[in-house]
Amino acid sequence: QGAMVSETDAQAKGLGYAADTTKVDAKKYPKHVATQNCANCQLYQGKAGEKAGGCPLFAGKQVTAIGWCSAHVNKA
Ligand code: SF4
Repeated sequence: QGAMVSETDAQAKGLGYAADTTKVDAKKYPKHVATQNCANCQLYQGKAGEKAGGCPLFAGKQVTAIGWCSAHVNKA
């Protein structure tokens, strides 16, 4: 397992990544809804029930299951 993505990483800042989807800045990301998180994002590679998993946008690192970023895509 890789290191966790930090919200202060340049890539994380660029994508508006938050480790907790409920803490996303609604003014900056008006389309964000709190029911969206990494665990229900199409790009998320973690297994169900795990607290963190990979994301291709953050190669070699892990995002939290309850995290979010502006590239979120609802799982079909
Ligand atoms: Fe989380 Fe999806 Fe953004 Fe990756 S693309 S950080 S899985 S919301």
